[in-house]
Amino acid sequence: MGITNHLNDTVHVTNLEWFVNWARKSSMWPLGFGLACCALEMIATFVSRYDLARFGMEVARPSPRHADLMIVSGTASKKMLPAVLRIYEQMAEPKWVIAMGACACSGGIYKNYSVVQGIDRHLPVDVYIPGCPPRPEALIDGILQLHAKVMKEQSIRNPRVGKIKVAGR
Ligand code: SF4
Repeated sequence: MGITNHLNDTVHVTNLEWFVNWARKSSMWPLGFGLACCALEMIATFVSRYDLARFGMEVARPSPRHADLMIVSGTASKKMLPAVLRIYEQMAEPKWVIAMGACACSGGIYKNYSVVQGIDRHLPVDVYIPGCPPRPEALIDGILQLHAKVMKEQSIRNPRVGKIKVAGR
């Protein structure tokens, strides 16, 4: 009774960590970057039919310094890997990684010396999306899984720092 009834629907109380997580997941900016055929499904997800604008992330950033989400969409060759790692290092903190498709998750059909057998050997992957290629619906589901993960992060008490892994360790 009293003041609490009066404030109903006008004042919302939450903690700072929830608010920071909510702001981060609601304004995630993906890097405009693709490696192979999965990138076409990723591009299809950005455009009007699937409309990522609904999740606050329709703008694919051309510069890694403006982006905080790397979607590794396609086959990562060992020759390409140094460039991928350099782009990741240039992205703003905190940053997240989605491995999209069988190639990014595990090397896919390319069991050979020239293809990275899973980008998680080098980058801290947050969400894996199987398929060859995964459809836009699968990518959207992966993004929503990532949003749910961000909402559970201890963004104030234990700030996230993305680190490149040294292969073989
Ligand atoms: S998972 Fe399939 S569609 Fe995606 S990059 Fe590999 S071969 Fe291409």
